[in-house]
Amino acid sequence: MRGRGFTQDAAAFETALAALASSPLRGRLHPGDRVEPFSRAPRTGRINDDGLPRALPPRNLSPVLQFRLFGIPVNVEPWFWATAFLLGGGLDIRDKRSLLFVGLWMILVFVSILVHELGHALSGRRLAGGRPAIRLWAFGGLAYNEGGRFTKKSRLIMILAGPGAGFLLFGAVVAGILIAFPGRSGWELTRALVVGGVPDDPRAALFVLSGTPTVFVLYSLLWINLWWGLVNLLPVHPLDGGQFAAEFISSRRRVHLIGLVVAAGVAAAALVLKEVFVALLFGFLAWQNYENMKRLAF
Ligand SMILES: [Zn+2]
Repeated sequence: MRGRGFTQDAAAFETALAALASSPLRGRLHPGDRVEPFSRAPRTGRINDDGLPRALPPRNLSPVLQFRLFGIPVNVEPWFWATAFLLGGGLDIRDKRSLLFVGLWMILVFVSILVHELGHALSGRRLAGGRPAIRLWAFGGLAYNEGGRFTKKSRLIMILAGPGAGFLLFGAVVAGILIAFPGRSGWELTRALVVGGVPDDPRAALFVLSGTPTVFVLYSLLWINLWWGLVNLLPVHPLDGGQFAAEFISSRRRVHLIGLVVAAGVAAAALVLKEVFVALLFGFLAWQNYENMKRLAF
């Protein structure tokens, strides 16, 4: 069992990554997260013997919100709400309607990130014991487990359980739509909410064009949980996909090399597509992996 730790400053760019998912939503943001599955509870910001920085202890900022869910302590820091507000269009609030939508957006992001982190935390506790905890900060989430005894298999399952939980939520929303709109309407509505456009089906089209808060809620939930889950599975450390890949690659340096190449590729593609924000974010991820790689070379 290795006490593999990952940089916690990753959360800063997971915040940013969350925002990249916003492009299809024009100004809306999607959550980022990461999991910190360390088992020997490293508590310093120093470099591990495997060359990776250890997790920093939770900051002593007073959280805006603190509660327990399924026995798991959840801390929500002020930055979480601030970022959610800003990136959800908080500065563009002009009337009650936009205020309502920003408020809804904040709640939906909160619920979605929490579900994702619960996927990590609950599966980790079930498979490896330990004391899981969740923090939501800036736009990132962090699930960590102290004292858990992870095997490679249980760690892999725990890593996938985060995006898996998000996909389940996505599926639940789709199921709800299909029940409320039986037959073709439901499928067309789902497609329109996920990929955009107006459905051919009149009932579904009327619903989408109504632009009610319900449409906004469905639209946001589908986007956040599908898009973020997929982005998170890219083999770019420290995203879940990068952590998953790292379990199969013995060289830490290679983990970061892959992260660098994939992130740089995504950044370049985003530049071509003029998605400046996405380019910046993946550029940052690429840089982060490059820095880690360099450090491991010596
Ligand atoms: Zn995750």
